Amino acid sequence: MIIAIDGPAASGKSTTARAIADHLGYIYLDTGAMYRTLALAALRYAEEGWDEPVAQVLKETEVDVAYAGDGEMRIFLDGEDVSEAIRQPEVGTMASRISARADIRDKMVALQREIGHAAEPGVVVDGRDIGTVVFPDAPVKVFLTADLEERARRRQQELQQKGQDASLPAVRREVEARDRADRERSVAPLRQADDAVVVDTTHLSVEEQVQAIVDLARNASNAA
Ligand code: C5P
Repeated sequence: MIIAIDGPAASGKSTTARAIADHLGYIYLDTGAMYRTLALAALRYAEEGWDEPVAQVLKETEVDVAYAGDGEMRIFLDGEDVSEAIRQPEVGTMASRISARADIRDKMVALQREIGHAAEPGVVVDGRDIGTVVFPDAPVKVFLTADLEERARRRQQELQQKGQDASLPAVRREVEARDRADRERSVAPLRQADDAVVVDTTHLSVEEQVQAIVDLARNASNAA
């Protein structure tokens, strides 16, 4: 069973997806982490002053996903575990830039499908194009959203927990700019699949949003 969750930045996708996966005994596939890993590679190459075209370098960069004993997803860049390093805000911004490229997306979508189709008994996948492009036949599709102000507040809180200070207006600008770029790009833009269920999390607790989606999954598996 594939559960596809799309939505804008800081809408609660990863927290919700991880909790649903735990609840159902599925794996969790964070596709944003995959684009972030290539973005980290791009930032590192830029630092080192590489003159090879970024497209070529990114094509040759190996991204691997593995699951720890506790089910936690870890992500590797050419064999190095970069699961923490990719969480820096500048990596997110670069991810949004490089993920607009069709060659980058083709590479990542192929890996996502490989992992998703092999997952037993199921996988919760979150991203921007999961229900529209990666798994258009997923039996459960959710579009998770929340007010911009609430999303900015959540992102700020997340940064503070990691010891990074940022003002609310600055975080709001960053979230808004990322959404605009993700919605307006020509390749696989962020949009709600026609058959997705919209879950607005502005006034929901994590437990409530998890329960809403677990119920959808149960209904879908009863109907199958
Ligand atoms: O979800 P996260 O903030 O980690 O994603 C980082 C960036 O990666 C997004 O802003 C988006 O541009 C890109 N992304 C994407 N397609 C996905 C997942 C993420 O384009 N399926």
